[in-house]
Amino acid sequence: MSGRFLSIGECMVELSQAGAGLLRKGFAGDTLNTAWYARCCLSSEWSVDYCTALGDDAMSDEMIAFFRDAGIGTSLIRRIKGKAPGLYMISLKNGERSFSYWRDSSAARQLAADPDFLREAIELSDVVYFSGITLAILSRDHADTLLAEVRRAKAAGKLVVFDPNIRPRLWSSYDEMHATISEGARASTLVMPSFDDETAHFGDSTIEATIDRYRALGAAHVLVKNGAEGATLNFDGIETFVPAEKVLQVIDTTSAGDSFNGAFLARYLETADAPSAARFAARVAARVVSEHGALIAREKLGLERP
Ligand code: ADP
Repeated sequence: MSGRFLSIGECMVELSQAGAGLLRKGFAGDTLNTAWYARCCLSSEWSVDYCTALGDDAMSDEMIAFFRDAGIGTSLIRRIKGKAPGLYMISLKNGERSFSYWRDSSAARQLAADPDFLREAIELSDVVYFSGITLAILSRDHADTLLAEVRRAKAAGKLVVFDPNIRPRLWSSYDEMHATISEGARASTLVMPSFDDETAHFGDSTIEATIDRYRALGAAHVLVKNGAEGATLNFDGIETFVPAEKVLQVIDTTSAGDSFNGAFLARYLETADAPSAARFAARVAARVVSEHGALIAREKLGLERP
């Protein structure tokens, strides 16, 4: 099989501590992380594209070069004069990480400002991936534009995949967050939530409750990730539990869920076998949590394919 996988969202500049008062620069963001792992795991018959908005500054150019080097397509990125990417910094104090963000006026907030551009990007793709963070950074009008376009893609029979990735700090109210995330799920074929987010913010007491809620909204498939406890899939009503891989030493769980999503989708698109794709994704995510950082090089993921 071949096709185009499109991930829509925001990638930011990441600054992390490099010792002696120095900062190391990287690039990361939930939907970019998933595109990275999808690219690592898919065959060359598939293209993986990132859809976002960037500025016309040097940092936007560097980010685009970084995507290209990773084999991620950049032709569906809109450039906006006078804008720049968002930025976050990871601080370490007594072994605890904390995050500061500068993303309120990032270029990515305008990714749905041009409905024609968005429509064309989606029309050129076979699989569309977005998240609750993608929706949270948009104005109400722009979120409606994105939702209308993904609904159109779903109606056209494309696979639309949504990770709710619930981040209350990005939303102006709980009501808006609940309503918009539910809209995102309704517009999707497959919802890939993390149970700790769903229980904390939707009050689900069991994984079944999460599955039922998203299926009732109209998602044919739901895959609930539950950290070291494993993942539960419900595809067209058929349920399977897939345990997590044993990890000797967990180093950094950043992007565990994003890598699971990317690896799962890569394998699912090529085999249409969801349980075996989830077992593969659990192996990839186990490698990711055994290393520092969000984006782990392909060579370290233990993949067979060259
Ligand atoms: P998120 O990062 O979205 O919160 P999870 O924590 O649920 O996602 O993790 C996603 C997947 O990563 C899990 O389904 C599991 O396969 C793997 N994973 C996460 N934490 C661990 C861990 N401590 N040991 C082994 N696998 C893990």
